[in-house]
Amino acid sequence: MKTFEELGIAAPLLQAIREMGYEVPMPVQEEVIPLLLGNDNDVIALAQTGTGKTAAYGLPVLQNINQQQQQPQALILCPTRELCLQIAGDLNDYSKYMDGLKILPVYGGSSIDSQIKTLKKGVHVVVATPGRLIDLMERKTVNLNDIKNVILDEADEMLNMGFTDSINAILAQVPPARNMLLFSATMPQEIARITKKYMREPREIVIGRKNEGNENIRHIYYMVHAKDKYLALKRIVDFYPNVYGIIFCRTRKETQEIADKLIQDGYNADSLHGELSQMQRDYVMQKFRLRNLQLLVATDVAARGLDVDDLTHVIHYGLPDETESYTHRSGRTGRAGKTGISIAICHIREKGKIREIGKIISKTFEKGTLPTGKAICEKQLFNLVDQIEKVKVNEAEIASLMPSVLRKLEWLEKEDIIKRLISLEFNRMLDYYRDADEIAIVDESSRQEDRKERGNHRSFKAEDGYKRFFINFGKNDGMFPNQLIELINRCVPGKVQIGKIDLRESFSFFEVDKKEAQRVMERMNSYEVDGRVISVEPAQDKNGEKSGEKNRFNGGGTWKKRDSERGSNRRSGGKNDKPWRKRMERR
Ligand code: AMP
Repeated sequence: MKTFEELGIAAPLLQAIREMGYEVPMPVQEEVIPLLLGNDNDVIALAQTGTGKTAAYGLPVLQNINQQQQQPQALILCPTRELCLQIAGDLNDYSKYMDGLKILPVYGGSSIDSQIKTLKKGVHVVVATPGRLIDLMERKTVNLNDIKNVILDEADEMLNMGFTDSINAILAQVPPARNMLLFSATMPQEIARITKKYMREPREIVIGRKNEGNENIRHIYYMVHAKDKYLALKRIVDFYPNVYGIIFCRTRKETQEIADKLIQDGYNADSLHGELSQMQRDYVMQKFRLRNLQLLVATDVAARGLDVDDLTHVIHYGLPDETESYTHRSGRTGRAGKTGISIAICHIREKGKIREIGKIISKTFEKGTLPTGKAICEKQLFNLVDQIEKVKVNEAEIASLMPSVLRKLEWLEKEDIIKRLISLEFNRMLDYYRDADEIAIVDESSRQEDRKERGNHRSFKAEDGYKRFFINFGKNDGMFPNQLIELINRCVPGKVQIGKIDLRESFSFFEVDKKEAQRVMERMNSYEVDGRVISVEPAQDKNGEKSGEKNRFNGGGTWKKRDSERGSNRRSGGKNDKPWRKRMERR
């Protein structure tokens, strides 16, 4: 691996990037820098954001500037105002020690007169959105005759936004002898046309495999009836109390509707779409950047301007038409070595699309089972308890009030105080899920398969003295007899006699000693594996009816029981449910 110095980067830039913490070049920088420092090199780079591409072109572009010449020598085109400002900001940081170097961001929505004034004074680098640049070109206020480097950043996005004609018009005006670099996360036909027309024997650089999805992202889909989509969304966000994510919708109308509903239901959410004014959009984006907003409901186009990509979750409220959009959306999570989750809430008709996207990103989607009300309440409760443990107490400021507070609560035991504290926050969740019906997950083919499989199994009777259970994990989840036995042993303390095990693709059956049956079912239903709730229920008997009791969350009563179970777990073994959970994750 080469250093920045070995790649040819000069001292003033080296000093600036060192201060920014760039120690070694990222792969895209290693490839692109030498080419752009040279002459007449055309490059197509397939790289997603977050790969270090801004510095890859920014450093050589800045180094190639002749400051004596007061004309634009580098042109960077990008799709949105926000990206434009971000790139200009990054270039300013890199050129901190290049006195007198002028970079001008040029974008719609800001005063064109002041941009013209600055251009007249002389700038070296223009970072522009195509529409505004065309405006300036038509007014003959920008001169592209001395351009030595042209960069098309997020070229696929520019084309998606309808800038094809503008880009053609701009490229026709830059001198033929220059370096041209095109960055894109995908390579649709239209890009190929542009590269063919304006590039000469371009070098193609691929950072990561073409169209590859990020390795750190789990892709999950939930297939539900259209009427259940919003309820499914609520369950998902409730199951992740610390979610920081974007919910992508297909239309502005849907975006606004979903955001309104979420806000009404008490979520920390807001919307971002093209019908909002620029000021409103800026306000929402800033709130989201600062994490004062947990859930942003957005259209693809509006979210493009948002430079936030360290999300915990990306939620697709319906799949986008273009696979590229799916890659873009999902690429906003799972960054910098962290794991992210991309969740698609979709309709049965989108099944083919799920398969198609999976093929292109070389990933298999996990079929999700929506968390039960019971599991969500447990997750929320423990999150609340966690917050109570970790909250910063301003001792000095509350010290004077403490005696009267303590006097007022004197009559309550510690346990009562805790219960009340929890109830303050938690009752809303509990009330909602106490009587909420579980949401059906639909999947025609597997439903048929399930029916068939379950039908087959009807001919199997449990051994004498044993009870047969259904569990929602199968071979596809890496569940094999040993894993299942270990799972049962981990969930259920004490010795459990396990009988026949019958593994299927997406679920399984197992038998346990009748005397232990009730306990096994209750214990196992209080656990999850890697965020997926375990669901154990009595297998159907010959008549297709479930024997035994109905396994549904019944509100406060169940809670108490599980709460105390958890409590005793913790007391005896600390975080003793963790290891097996880990072990299962690694499967
Ligand atoms: P980009 O793909 O240009 O948006 O860059 C992604 C992130 O990586 C930005 O926060 C950059 O500041 C950072 N970055 C770029 N190059 C390097 C480097 N060589 N070393 C460390 N961080 C870098």
